[in-house]
Amino acid sequence: MSDTYVVVGAGIVGLYTAYSLVYEAGVSPKDITIAAAHIPGDQSINYTSPWAGGNFSCISPGDKKSLSYDRYTYTHLSEIQKRLGGPSCGLDMRPATDYFHKYPPAKKMESLKEYVKDFRILEKSALPKGIVFGISYTTWNFNCPLFLQNLASFLEKLGVTIIKKKLEHLSQAFLSPNTKVVFNCTGIGAITLGGVKDTNVYPTRGQVVVIKAPHIQFNMCLWSNESATYIIPRPNSNGELVMGGFLQKGISTGDTFKHETEDIIKRATKMAPQILDRPLDVVRVAAGLRPSRHGGPRIELEEVEDGKLVIHNYGASGYGYQGGWGMAHDAVRLLIKAQRASQASL
Ligand SMILES: Cc1cc2nc3c(=O)[nH]c(=O)nc-3n(C[C@H](O)[C@H](O)[C@H](O)COP(=O)(O)OP(=O)(O)OC[C@H]3O[C@@H](n4cnc5c(N)ncnc54)[C@H](O)[C@@H]3O)c2cc1C
Repeated sequence: MSDTYVVVGAGIVGLYTAYSLVYEAGVSPKDITIAAAHIPGDQSINYTSPWAGGNFSCISPGDKKSLSYDRYTYTHLSEIQKRLGGPSCGLDMRPATDYFHKYPPAKKMESLKEYVKDFRILEKSALPKGIVFGISYTTWNFNCPLFLQNLASFLEKLGVTIIKKKLEHLSQAFLSPNTKVVFNCTGIGAITLGGVKDTNVYPTRGQVVVIKAPHIQFNMCLWSNESATYIIPRPNSNGELVMGGFLQKGISTGDTFKHETEDIIKRATKMAPQILDRPLDVVRVAAGLRPSRHGGPRIELEEVEDGKLVIHNYGASGYGYQGGWGMAHDAVRLLIKAQRASQASL
């Protein structure tokens, strides 16, 4: 075990980052330690990743960087799926339909069209009442808690060390004098972590209702100004379906509310009445906090004393699964660039 490279955070962004360090930067897994207050298997309102839906959808913004994070992740996920042993790892593809109450950014649609499987713009005549635009495609679906566990175990088997450790200050991530590079993948923790305390980060609360519905094997989303209604089947879960949701900016409670549960069920079953072909069987109701950030994710290199580096990689908001590997790729590229520059100056 060595802690030359320390990744702070064991959410999806931290795990993608450790994976990218190994497979994209060629770092030996034995030189990587992931240090996190919460690790796969834990449940906390301060640990977002287990609560995600999670799929690849139209939730992310249409700016150039977000489009590139999404594209990179979508087009590379089959590699992780293969390395983790196939779809039973909790990552698989399913059909998807997204409906819009107002037109999505044209640039986003042009980008998706280039790489998303089976992408199709729906005929106006095929759209439900009140919908102005719709697309269908084949998407990635994550069984988030299972996928996190499997990705973490995979990294551990390679030789990456995972330790539970809550930091008060980012400087504590330099676990020993050997530590040269720290990746800060603390998600919502970036608000409070000393040395970071990023005032641009804020929570966007969501509540989900998980039901048993093995007969629903497709994704559907309805995007409107004030809410998002979605259904997301969970691969390798014995037929669980995640129904949502809410995008409540600045709300940080982990409590769940009965009126929100009722509202989600009402909206989801109106959008996809097939759900009610079987009696509604609620397995769980949960809430999570998306790590949103004014200005988008922070992927930035800071040189600290003696040439040691901190690379920030947080702020994935509602798209850590669908864009997080693209973020990790960019964060790791910053490292590669810095290492090349320092070699060139020798
Ligand atoms: C209801 C809901 C539905 C969602 N659906 C989707 C979806 O369908 N698709 C999608 O792509 N995304 C979805 N998301 C968003 C996704 O869950 C997040 O983008 C993602 O989980 C963020 O991952 P992260 O690794 O940045 O943060 P986290 O998962 O919160 O991980 C942060 C890590 O940092 C650690 N940490 C923080 N502070 C400290 C500290 N001081 N010391 C040590 N460790 C620390 C934590 O313990 C944890 O290990 C959804 C989110 C919610 C809430």
